[in-house]
Amino acid sequence: MGCVGEEEAVKAARRAALGALASLRRGEAIAVRIGEDWLVGFYKVKHSGSETRLEFKWAYVDCKGVAFGELPQDAAAALESLLGAIPDIIKRSWSPAQAELKLKRPRVHLGMILAIDVGATWTRVELIDESGRIARREKFRTDISPVETAARLAEGWPFDAVGVGSIGPIDIRRGWAAAAPNAPSHSFPLVDPLRRFGKPIYVANDTVAAAWGEYVFGGWGVDNLAYLTISTGVGVGAVVNGCLLMGKAGNAHELGHMPLKFDADFKCGCGGAGHWEAFAGGANIPRYFKAFAEARGLKAPEVKSAEDVFKLYREGDKVAALFVEQWISVNAAGMAAISVAYDPEVLVVGGSIALSHWDLIEAAADSAKRYLPGGVDPPAVVKAKFGDDEVAVGAAALAVKPPESLKNSGTPAKAPSKLLFGLPPLNSAVEDYPVVVPLGVGGL
Ligand SMILES: [Zn+2]
Repeated sequence: MGCVGEEEAVKAARRAALGALASLRRGEAIAVRIGEDWLVGFYKVKHSGSETRLEFKWAYVDCKGVAFGELPQDAAAALESLLGAIPDIIKRSWSPAQAELKLKRPRVHLGMILAIDVGATWTRVELIDESGRIARREKFRTDISPVETAARLAEGWPFDAVGVGSIGPIDIRRGWAAAAPNAPSHSFPLVDPLRRFGKPIYVANDTVAAAWGEYVFGGWGVDNLAYLTISTGVGVGAVVNGCLLMGKAGNAHELGHMPLKFDADFKCGCGGAGHWEAFAGGANIPRYFKAFAEARGLKAPEVKSAEDVFKLYREGDKVAALFVEQWISVNAAGMAAISVAYDPEVLVVGGSIALSHWDLIEAAADSAKRYLPGGVDPPAVVKAKFGDDEVAVGAAALAVKPPESLKNSGTPAKAPSKLLFGLPPLNSAVEDYPVVVPLGVGGL
C-alpha cells in the first residue's frame, strides 16, 4: 500500500504512538514527517519514590503506522538538537493534570521544490512544498529554450531541489528533450540550465511525471495507477507495483501513439498511421472530423478546433454526434489497452478535453469493458486532481520521492546518498536537505 493523505498519516502516527506507548499515562506527543515516515516524540513519565520525572523520547514510525521502537539515545539527541525548539514547546505545555488534547504546529523548515512543466504552448514554473501545496505560480509562452527561461525566472526563489516534467520524446540519459514535435524548438536542454542552482534535479516526460504526482500526492492509496491525459495530444503514464515505468530514455508507455486501427490511412501528427492520438487528440480532431465525415459521404460543418466539434455535438448536430460516438469508442479501446498493459487499480484521467467532457469519459470507461478479456477487472476511472498544475505537481513529486526507476536510469544530477541518523534511507531530496516536514503536534 502506498501512503495516503496527511490526515491519515497523522492518525496512523498517533495510533502507533498510542499502541507503542501503552505505559504512557498522560502527556503529549509530536508527530513529525520525514518523507513518508514519521517520528513521534513523546514523554515517558518515570516514578521513583516520591519523585516524578519526565523523559523525552522519539519513536520511528513508518507510513503504515508500524512503530520501530525508540530511536537510539545518540540519534534522539541529534534529532532534538536538529529540531531545536520542539522539545521545549512540548515541555512548556506539558502538564500531568491536563486532560485535554492540544494541537500545535511547530515552525520547522518545509522543503521546497522548483517545479517546471514544459508544455508545447505554455511553460509553468511553480514553487511547491513537500506536501504538494503550491506556494507560487508563473507561466510563459514556451520559447526555444524553455528551461533556460524558467531558470532565469526562478532566480532568487527559495528551493531545495528541482523537478522537470517535459513534453517528449525526451532523453533522460542526456537530459534533453529529443524531438518534441509541437514546441517552438524540437530539441532543448532540460538539465544544464538548472545546474547553476547546485540542487538535485529530477527530470521525466510530462505524463510520466503526472502519473507519479497522482501516485505521491493524489491520496489514491493504491500501488497500481495509470494516468491518461486527453488534451492537445494523448499521453499515458503508469505506476506498476509502486514502480514508475520509465524505459531506456524515459519514453516508456507513449501509448498515445499506439496503433488502434492497423488498417487506417489517417495519419497522426507524429507521422504514424492509425494512432490513438490521431483519432482522439485535440490537435487532430478538426482534421479527423472532416475525414470521418467524408468517408461516410456526409458533409461536416466547418470547425477550427476540437472544442467546435464538441459544441456542435452538444447542440445536437448529427455528424458531430456520430463523430463523438466514435471518439468514445476510440478512447474506450485505448483505456482497455491500458488495463491489459498495466492492470491498474485506478485510472486517473486528466487533460483539458477529458476534464471538460467528463460525461464522455464516463461513457468511454463503461464501453471499455467490452474490449477486456474475461477475468480482467477494469480499473476505477477517476478525475485527475491537480488541473492545470498536474505536470508541475508531478515534477515536484519526482523530487520529493524520487522513483527508483529514475535513480537507476541516470537522473542527470544525483543527490549523494546518505543515511539520516541511521534510519532507513529516505528519498534523496529529503536526504540532502534533511530537515523534517512538520505536520502537527497531537496530545495523547
Ligand atoms: Zn502518433
